[in-house]
Amino acid sequence: MSKSALVTGITGQDGAYLAKFLLSKGYEVHGLLARRATPTTWRLKYLDILDKVDLIDGDLTDIASIVRALLECRPDEVYNLGAQSFVATSWAQPILTANATGLGALNILEAIRQVRPEAKFYQASTSEMFGKIQEPVQSEKTPFYPRSPYGVSKLFAHWMTVNYRESFGLFGCSGILFNHESPLRGIEFVTRKVSDAVARIALGVQKELRLGNIDAKRDWGFAGDYVQAMWAMLQQPEPDTYVVATGRTTTVREMCRIAFERVGLNYQDHVVIDPKFYRPAEVDILLGNPSKAKEKLGWEAKTTLEELMAMMVDADLERVRREIK
Ligand code: NDP
Ligand code: GDP
Repeated sequence: MSKSALVTGITGQDGAYLAKFLLSKGYEVHGLLARRATPTTWRLKYLDILDKVDLIDGDLTDIASIVRALLECRPDEVYNLGAQSFVATSWAQPILTANATGLGALNILEAIRQVRPEAKFYQASTSEMFGKIQEPVQSEKTPFYPRSPYGVSKLFAHWMTVNYRESFGLFGCSGILFNHESPLRGIEFVTRKVSDAVARIALGVQKELRLGNIDAKRDWGFAGDYVQAMWAMLQQPEPDTYVVATGRTTTVREMCRIAFERVGLNYQDHVVIDPKFYRPAEVDILLGNPSKAKEKLGWEAKTTLEELMAMMVDADLERVRREIK
């Protein structure tokens, strides 16, 4: 009998890669589909899996719809990837972010407790919970200090996952994932904003790229690698918390240099600093220690930042070429 998984946020970057990975492992894949005015399934189409997954209408802020989804697909594993995931937006819409990203996780935990307690649960936690870092290299033992409504909401969801594990014996895992990117990354995130701009500038349809704080440093990996760690956590004998990262940190500036170099351009000729993109409180630097994931899950990041940016720039070049033809 094949295993069944329910993925919230299946239309997002990670949801799409995870669904593809689970299908390759023989899973029956169900996804919670939030109602929007226009279709949101382009990533599933891009990976050629739209007709291979079962989409169930529902929203993380509506516990009744989650209960219905759980009863309908009776999953062995639930991956909670749904969230308002963009840090900058979380200051403009803090209540929505808390509802979807924070309380949404509690809704799903509570629904699992009531109607599907045997299901294993994965919570998409984030390095943004480390925020104003308390240790130079962040591990599972590093204290948290979130710096945005997004980070605070995710911290609530993280502790609820730990609490439901300890209180009710739910198999709840929290994956503290550092930034991970791909050609399917949302266009407002900095790597994708850069790869899209590099493609447009190279093809002559854009001149400059306006960015905020390019001295910020991130530990960037490839989303396709990271979803495998999510799955591996749920295959362990005991539920636990894991940091997933590359162990290398790079400035936004250096990431730009790498991306522009892919098309033979110098980022300094095109990047313009625009204070509009500064944040009310910044996370200056993130650097993860993935040793526990390596030791317990046998997981390691396989894609370098150079390979990642090349992949993203090439995909955007192809797309922009099609658009302007
Ligand atoms: P995306 O923003 O690409 O995807 C978010 C998904 O959540 C979308 O499918 C979106 O649906 C869905 N969603 C939003 N609100 C609701 C809601 N109220 N009910 C149901 N679904 C909802 O994020 P990523 O794929 O990049 O990230 C996946 C998860 O991992 C997120 O929780 C994110 O916060 C977390 N994370 C991501 C990191 C990264 O670097 N990518 C790092 C660490 C954690 P729709 O398409 O309709 O908007
Ligand atoms: P985050 O780490 O989840 O906030 O991921 P982002 O990709 O949105 O941002 C990564 C870093 O890039 C943050 O420190 C931002 O302040 C910085 N950054 C600088 N300019 C920009 C920009 O124009 N857009 C975004 N999204 N981030 C920027």
